[in-house]
Amino acid sequence: RFITLEGGEGVGKSTQLKALQAALAQRGVDCVVTREPGGSEGAEAIRALLLSGDEARWSAESEALLFATARADHVEKTIRPALSQRKWVLSDRFLDSSLAYQGGAGGLGIERVRDLYRFACGDFLPDRTLVLILDEGAERARARDTDGADRIGGRSAEYHHKVETAFRIIAAEEPERVRLIDASGTPEQVTQRLLDGLKDLLS
Ligand code: C5P
Repeated sequence: RFITLEGGEGVGKSTQLKALQAALAQRGVDCVVTREPGGSEGAEAIRALLLSGDEARWSAESEALLFATARADHVEKTIRPALSQRKWVLSDRFLDSSLAYQGGAGGLGIERVRDLYRFACGDFLPDRTLVLILDEGAERARARDTDGADRIGGRSAEYHHKVETAFRIIAAEEPERVRLIDASGTPEQVTQRLLDGLKDLLS
């Protein structure tokens, strides 16, 4: 099975990735854990191009192409080989980050980024995508609290709001694959919700 974990900034994705990996291991499911951008030698090299240097280095189109190139390599070199050995793969971000960040917030449009993905990876898709998300009230409060201003990690609160909105649209479009998971409450509660989101795949 191929599972992806997604979410905007500050929803506890890194903590939950580790907790989910441990919870699955407890149930006898050992996952190959990987991440994007990156996850293969070529994709890690592209990650360095994407995340270093100033933000204005790439146009939105160039950035989306770099993500798509990295993802094609990640799928071919890391994900498919593990799946063909009947392993579970858990990826920290995947396609839906590109749909939400480059497509929804970056202005390219979700459908254009989806087309790019199809060119890069064909009809390959995760079996389940879990999106950590806070309700809009909690999201606004967090945006206010982060840096005490309207920017999180160098991008505007408005940008991050667009990311969250795009995740909601994607989940509505593909309700079987993409599940929104409430990221509020204790870490243990959130991990349990993630496991519930995989229930049908675990039985
Ligand atoms: O997973 P993490 O939050 O560490 O992601 C690193 C950064 O890369 C995030 O801040 C996110 O804004 C950005 N990103 C992006 N487009 C993607 C994936 C990640 O802009 N497709």
